[in-house]
Order: sequence, then C-alpha cells, then structure tokens
Amino acid sequence: MAETAREPILEVRHLVKHFPLTRGVLFKRQVGAVKAVDDISFELFRGETLGIVGESGCGKSTVAKLLMNLEQPTSGEILYKGEDITKLSGRALKAVRRNIQMVFQDPYTSLNPRMTVGDIIGEPFEIHPEAAPKGDRRAKVRELLDVVGLNPEYINRYPHQFSGGQRQRIGIARGLALNPEIIICDEPVSALDVSVQAQVINLMERLQDEFELSYLFIAHDLSIVRHISDRVGVMYLGRMAEIGTDREIYEHPTHPYTQALLSAVPVPDPEARDRRERIILHGDVPSPANPPSGCRFRTRCWKAEQRCADETPLLAVPEVLRDAEGPVRHPSACHFAEERTVVPA
Ligand code: SF4
Repeated sequence: MAETAREPILEVRHLVKHFPLTRGVLFKRQVGAVKAVDDISFELFRGETLGIVGESGCGKSTVAKLLMNLEQPTSGEILYKGEDITKLSGRALKAVRRNIQMVFQDPYTSLNPRMTVGDIIGEPFEIHPEAAPKGDRRAKVRELLDVVGLNPEYINRYPHQFSGGQRQRIGIARGLALNPEIIICDEPVSALDVSVQAQVINLMERLQDEFELSYLFIAHDLSIVRHISDRVGVMYLGRMAEIGTDREIYEHPTHPYTQALLSAVPVPDPEARDRRERIILHGDVPSPANPPSGCRFRTRCWKAEQRCADETPLLAVPEVLRDAEGPVRHPSACHFAEERTVVPA
C-alpha cells in the first residue's frame, strides 16, 4: 500500500445527483427524483487509495460517473487541484480529463470485440494526440502491455483471445496510456475469479507505487477494499455513513451500518468466526426516490430513536469519542455513534 501524502488531489464537496422522474408522453412533468447521490463530501489524497463500499444501489457508481464527467451533478463541487471541474468545458475540461482515467467493472463488455488490443490501448491517443506522436504510438502500446505483465507481441490480438484477468490488464493499460494522476476503479475485480482478483490487485498496487497514482476504488466486497485501501468510505442510500483509515473502519467501526456490513464479512479462521458477532439487518433498502427522513438508515437500524427521524445526522467525529482516549477519531453520520468491534482481530 502506498504511503499517504496529505495533499488532496481531488476534493468532493456536497455533491448531489438527482435523476428526475417524469410522467406524461407529450408534456413531460417532473413528479419526483431518484436521489442517487445526496450531499457527499470526501477528499482523495495524492498517492493514496480511497475505497468506497456499500450495497448495490447506494450511489457509489454514480459518484464514479460524476467524477469522470459522464454525468452532470445536480449541485456540489468536484475540485481537482483546487479547480472546480464541474464548471469547466472545452479544452480546459479535456486537459483535466487526461489526468483522471477509469478502469471499468466488466473486462468482458468494456473492450470493443472488433478492435485489436493495440487499437484499444492506443485509443486515448486519438482523443489526446499531444500525449504521443503518431509514429511513437505502437511502441508506447507495446510498453504499456509490458508494464501490465502482458506479452507485447499480443498487440494484434483481439479481446476474445484473452482470459478475464488478461482483459482487465488490457483495461488497466488503457487507463494508464495518458499517464494519469487519478484512476477511478469501478468494481475492477468483481467479475474475476478469486485467484485472478489477487493478481490484478497486486498489479494495481505495483503500478500505484511506480506511477504515483491515486485510486478511488469502488467495490461491494469489504475484504478486497480493505486489502488495497488506505482509507475507506461507507455509503448508504446516497450518503456517506462513515469514513476513516482502513484500521478505523474495520477494527473500530462506529456507524451501525458499517458494523452490520462487517459482521457479514467471511472470516477464514473458524475460532474467530465463532467469536464474531453477527448483526442481521431486517427490511429492504428503501427506494432512493423516497428515502426516509432524517437518517436514511433508520428503517433498518436497531438503535433508531425519534431523533433519527427528525434530524439528519452530519458526518462528523462523534462527540462522545472526540475527547476520549483511544484510536477512534474518524467521522460518522450517526447521532448515537459508538465503537463496536464485530470482527475479532
Ligand atoms: S442516526 Fe439513528 S438510525 Fe441512524 S444510524 Fe445512528 S442510531 Fe441508527
């Protein structure tokens, strides 16, 4: 894992994305909104990996699309080196986009089956010709294949001639082509076999050190996120429930949702498994079109009180822990946050 330097390269402030729900064919009128992302703030520091975890539908992939400018935010700011990229357009936006690249979830569908690997990896040079003169591009692609552990002689092969893990290496090579500073990884290994997942994660860690990359690593698998992340943010229904270092989140979680998620993580050691406290959540995740008032987690939280329905908890270091002796100093969006270790060390 890379050493964390405390210089934010990306700052997300009060980011909101609501998708309008409309009715009518000829005269469409808005009847509501899906609140996919609802006031999210976090920082990504230079050289670190920030993991974002949460159940499917919590808004983590929408955050990735907003950072990649594939969706426009409803409100909020995304600052890249202090500049709000949501206000940029044309050349200025293109220049920033070069420094923020993405590795997609599914290596089977994210690569065009009709293009050779050389064309796929070299495609970013068509959009940013200044990154590599035409005559140098084949050599650059060969170099990238070598960097991700693939034989440069495979340059003329097609995606179907590769395994899943190799295809994800191709996707990573494509993400590296423009020498970016930030890579947004949206479930990059979830479509791969467990043994292949480890190889791809190890590759990503090596590349991070070699190219001083910052990763935003989005996944639903808490074990994988812990392995690669310096810090972890836990999302629930469009909001950040808790954010902290990997140790704070995994060993000293204070938000009931994080505690419930961790209690379901498989524990290989049978003794530790027996000692582990299981927290069963009841009820379904509410619809983001009609989220509960106050705390969004309150319909499934065993600690919920009237205050949880009346007041939205802010993401802040819990008052009871602020002055206490101990390792917990990280923000949690819960009125009654308290440390509870659910997975024995
Ligand atoms: S604010 Fe209330 S409902 Fe929300 S997590 Fe905390 S205790 Fe549970």
